[in-house]
Amino acid sequence: MATCEKLAKCPFYQGQMDMDSGLGSLYKKRYCEGDKTVCARYMIATTLGPDYVTNSIYPNMVDLAKKMIAEHKK
Ligand code: SF4
Repeated sequence: MATCEKLAKCPFYQGQMDMDSGLGSLYKKRYCEGDKTVCARYMIATTLGPDYVTNSIYPNMVDLAKKMIAEHKK
């Protein structure tokens, strides 16, 4: 699967977010280098825009992403 095109700029992938190193590398493999379409950050960036993706949002926060997207559509 293709890597995420946001890798170069994404604070998560670039290690600028506070993240336990073990989990962080797991997430990078799973999302950034695996399936970006299930990454919460990616979902928000591509539907609401990059301004909505704060550094407190981690790739696994899919529920939050769905909620934010649903709220926005109201
Ligand atoms: S955290 Fe998400 S948006 Fe950032 S590089 Fe990884 S897959 Fe892409």
